[in-house]
Amino acid sequence: MHDGPGIRTTVFFKGCPLQCWWCHNPEGIRKDEEEVVSVHKMEGRDFPVKETVGRWMDTEEVMNEIVRERVFMEESGGGVTFSGGEPLGQVDFLEDLLLACKREGFHTAVDTTGYTSRKNLMKIMALTDIFLYDVKHMDDRRHLAYTGVSNGRILENLTFLASQNKKIMIRLPVLPAMNDDDENIGRTLHFLKSLTPAIVEVDLLPYHAMATHKYEKFGMDYKMSGIPEPGADDLERMKKKFERAGFQVKIGG
Ligand code: SF4
Repeated sequence: MHDGPGIRTTVFFKGCPLQCWWCHNPEGIRKDEEEVVSVHKMEGRDFPVKETVGRWMDTEEVMNEIVRERVFMEESGGGVTFSGGEPLGQVDFLEDLLLACKREGFHTAVDTTGYTSRKNLMKIMALTDIFLYDVKHMDDRRHLAYTGVSNGRILENLTFLASQNKKIMIRLPVLPAMNDDDENIGRTLHFLKSLTPAIVEVDLLPYHAMATHKYEKFGMDYKMSGIPEPGADDLERMKKKFERAGFQVKIGG
């Protein structure tokens, strides 16, 4: 219910070109299947359990899962969302799945970082009813520091999609002392206003530390230690700023 309109079936692609400090899906960053060990507790004892994260699937296998959810999607005005990781990292597979969804009459959404080639975007643009698009920081140096990539291509691709009259929901992570300062919010508002009417909603996604334990499991560094979660009042204030600029805003995805 958080990945676009209505009740949706979300397909998570593994593999992401970014490595955001706050990512709550670290299992989606590396492209390949991974063997990890989880510790299950029972009667005060630890039981290590091996787990395979991710698996290779083909279009038919994924579609078999999706069509089983038809009634929920259709009754709620929902559909299918392709998320990740970065779904455009496997663009041919994504195109195939979108075509199969369209043949079944499903509404389609692609949740993207925007860090992809124009050619890839053009391949799937006509098959995508709505884009969920991340805007993380307007300052290129800080974007690079926090995610590992520049924001240049991301903002250019967003401008391009808006110019093609695609519907776009903006996903803005709210990260205290990282991107919630007046300067960055002002620049974000200014940029998004230049893209209306393509922007149908802005979702403010408050940072939360719930994924911390996953980093240990995947042997990755967690760089957000000590960063607090945003307060309800700060989120409301930010929401009002976007609403005053004419956007429909939601707190949470
Ligand atoms: S873009 Fe999304 S999936 Fe990729 S690292 Fe950042 S938060 Fe995680």
